[in-house]
Amino acid sequence: MREVFTVSKVRVATTSLAGCFGCHMSFLDMDERIVGLLEHVEFSRSPINDIKHCDPCDIGLVEGALCNADNVHVLKEFRENCKILIAVGACAINGGVPAMRNHFTLQECLEEAFLDMIGVDNPHIPNDVEIPLLLSKVHPLHEVVKVDYYLPGCPPSADAFVKVLTDLLEGKEPSLPKSMLHYD
Ligand code: SF4
Repeated sequence: MREVFTVSKVRVATTSLAGCFGCHMSFLDMDERIVGLLEHVEFSRSPINDIKHCDPCDIGLVEGALCNADNVHVLKEFRENCKILIAVGACAINGGVPAMRNHFTLQECLEEAFLDMIGVDNPHIPNDVEIPLLLSKVHPLHEVVKVDYYLPGCPPSADAFVKVLTDLLEGKEPSLPKSMLHYD
């Protein structure tokens, strides 16, 4: 798929679902290159502003897997609003570290974390209505919505972010050289 942007500035949104924010830290590792990027890009929801919801955007970058109902809600909001949706990093692409809990039942995970773990004080499983409902299994993004591109790595390098965004801004299919393609 190739999207040709005709607006003066391309609108980009980012979010972290069940992830460690490491992919976002790598994104911010663009350092001064982010200044050049801002000549062509404006940010919707992202770590560099306080926008709470994804509004209509050209590109959505999503880090992290889906482990609870709120993650699913945010992902669907991104899919509805972003012309191009990119799964960023191992957690978004295949579940990554959060999906390690898929080897166990949800009940086993909750008991281990809140009842049986060494050092647990006042053991009880939290049950507040404010806490998003956990999914029984962790899912990568493509199992719930259509994903347009995948940016692999744990995390992808800042150079890889720059390359993918530059390709898209130039109306090209994103293509990473082997040196930027890694899966660890
Ligand atoms: S892919 Fe790696 S760096 Fe990115 S959110 Fe997952 S664990 Fe963190």
